[in-house]
Amino acid sequence: MRAFEYARPTSVDDAVRLVAERPDAGFIAGGTDLLNLMKDGARAHDCLIDVNALPLADVVERDGVVRIGALARMREVAEHPAVRRAAPVVSEALLNSASPQVRNMAAIGGNLLQRTRCGYFRDVGSPCNKRVPGSGCPALEGQNRAHAILGVSDQCIAVHPSDLAVSLLAVDATVLTQSPARARRIPMGEFHVAPGATPDRENALGHGELIVGVEIPITPMAATSRYLKLRDRATFEFAVVAVAAALEMNGNVVRDVRLTFGGIATKPWRSPEAEAALRGRPLTGATIAAAGQALVRGAVTREHNAFKADLVQRALDGHLRDLAGVQ
Ligand SMILES: Cc1cc2nc3c(=O)[nH]c(=O)nc-3n(C[C@H](O)[C@H](O)[C@H](O)COP(=O)(O)OP(=O)(O)OC[C@H]3O[C@@H](n4cnc5c(N)ncnc54)[C@H](O)[C@@H]3O)c2cc1C
Ligand code: SF4
Repeated sequence: MRAFEYARPTSVDDAVRLVAERPDAGFIAGGTDLLNLMKDGARAHDCLIDVNALPLADVVERDGVVRIGALARMREVAEHPAVRRAAPVVSEALLNSASPQVRNMAAIGGNLLQRTRCGYFRDVGSPCNKRVPGSGCPALEGQNRAHAILGVSDQCIAVHPSDLAVSLLAVDATVLTQSPARARRIPMGEFHVAPGATPDRENALGHGELIVGVEIPITPMAATSRYLKLRDRATFEFAVVAVAAALEMNGNVVRDVRLTFGGIATKPWRSPEAEAALRGRPLTGATIAAAGQALVRGAVTREHNAFKADLVQRALDGHLRDLAGVQ
């Protein structure tokens, strides 16, 4: 592990200035992802700015939103009554993430910015376009069972790992940021970006821009939202397929729906096509199947991950039936 400088400022202004003025400086929160990457040599910083002394740990319900500070820990947010009431999908996504130890340590901002679990990315002995642009992508023809089928490019097919991000997209949350120049509000749908020709760029943040919080609007639909995660073992494991759904019914007709997915895409994935196949229609096996087909239309599968196209449709079917209480 390379030596680095360390500072623990107590104001947001100081924290963003200290990172912005050095190209290789970075923020650290819980350190549960960043320190592993630095030890493995997959990330290098010459200076770490510890954000844990900043006043950003509160969860507050006010003016029609639940505002979650970027330093609130995964466990606190999962258990917070306002979050559970306004957006059960967020609480469930967090409780289905990592382990109790990691959830005690890891913060909301760090969770949204955790890096992919693609093994080639974390192994500095392998080429990887995300880690070293232009070096190649061994996953295209290699071990790609865990990789994405949606939002992929010929440069990178790595899955976005955060369960929280998928759930926040389902409830139309907004990420609040601060840089030396300005404060910004970034809709979750614009926060993460697909790899395209620049897989090293994963989100809308500039260098030195700090996540200060996340806002969840309080709506009747978000209050019905639920998370389903399928994984290889019951704990301490990332999603093979995940579905976050918010549903508003009128009798047996879908009045409105939001559907987002994890485990299958290079960024938290919303499917307007699947939603359109359900909106205004009765919730039946046929309409759910049409939604599932609309979701995976355009999917690009590879040798070991083709099963995900079928699995995600079955997960969607089961999850929507559970949510609506239909057989
Ligand atoms: C064994 C294991 C299993 C896991 N399973 C899951 C899982 O199932 N689902 C899941 O979603 N996650 C899972 N995780 C990932 C875990 O949730 C993340 O490691 C954690 O959320 C990262 O948060 P942190 O506070 O420790 O971030 P850090 O490691 O401190 O930082 C991560 C990144 O975010 C940046 N950063 C941190 N805070 C801010 C901020 N406020 N503004 C701007 N940049 C910031 C850092 O610079 C760094 O680049 C797992 C992790 C482990 C180790
Ligand atoms: S899928 Fe992406 S992260 Fe994985 S090796 Fe290819 S370029 Fe790297």
